[in-house]
Amino acid sequence: MRRPVLLFTVAAFALMSAGLSSCGKPKAEHGDPHAEAAGEHGGGDHGGDGHGAAKGDVTHWSYEGDDGPAHWGDLSTENKACKTGPRQSPINLTGVAAPKSVNLTLDYTSSPAKIQNLGHAIQVSPTDGGGVVMDGVRYKLVQFHFHTPSEHTIDGHRAAIETHFVHKNDKGDLLVIGVLSDVGVADPMLAPIWTWLPTDPGPAALIPDLLVNARDLMPATEEFYAYSGSLTTPPCTEKVTWLVYASPLSISPEQVDAYQRLTGPNARPIQPPQGRDILHLVGS
Ligand SMILES: [Zn+2]
Repeated sequence: MRRPVLLFTVAAFALMSAGLSSCGKPKAEHGDPHAEAAGEHGGGDHGGDGHGAAKGDVTHWSYEGDDGPAHWGDLSTENKACKTGPRQSPINLTGVAAPKSVNLTLDYTSSPAKIQNLGHAIQVSPTDGGGVVMDGVRYKLVQFHFHTPSEHTIDGHRAAIETHFVHKNDKGDLLVIGVLSDVGVADPMLAPIWTWLPTDPGPAALIPDLLVNARDLMPATEEFYAYSGSLTTPPCTEKVTWLVYASPLSISPEQVDAYQRLTGPNARPIQPPQGRDILHLVGS
């Protein structure tokens, strides 16, 4: 079951900036929410993080026009996978096989969290939010962020919002859990986070008086579509394990509007499946 959000009082202070866009554009259009790890900007294994103070400027990209998704692969050699990678995300999740049991433990903890408007997405980074253990490998939750409309589709259906929970293991391998939300009743678990959506791109800041538990933002039933894909933002790095919840949550039109007003549409178009297996996994 989804658990209630715990509230407690913490000192409300802004954390140091995680690094700001230096591209001079009004919106920070480059950064990679999938690759951006809280407090770690120098890894380079997944690249594309334009918000790290230790890194130089990176190629601008956006969701429309000359630096939109159709051109990401041409904007930089680092982005080559966006154009030529055989296992790109998102995809339409369809034609899945019979359910298969997966050895997956959701081991999230309630934690203070920072929130940041990256320009193209809004990202929440728990200080110590736990993670998951899949087939004996622990993946730590690094951050989660939101796309609108959804990036993955299920049997062609596109949801209003998709939340990506980005995890990383000790080797740097990424596992992303996707949650789709259809328009309906408001999501009470999102409400306290929505209160703090930053209006403008800027540094990460601690959300005051709130503990965030990722499990509260996921469906109760542990049933997933699973496949091997990529980051959905430049540099579109592959070898990302995707688990997308089969059943959507619900979100109100007002909640969707509040987010869309800040980021605009930020969904990469569907990519060709190229013969990849899509598994149907059920938590044990
Ligand atoms: Zn994402």
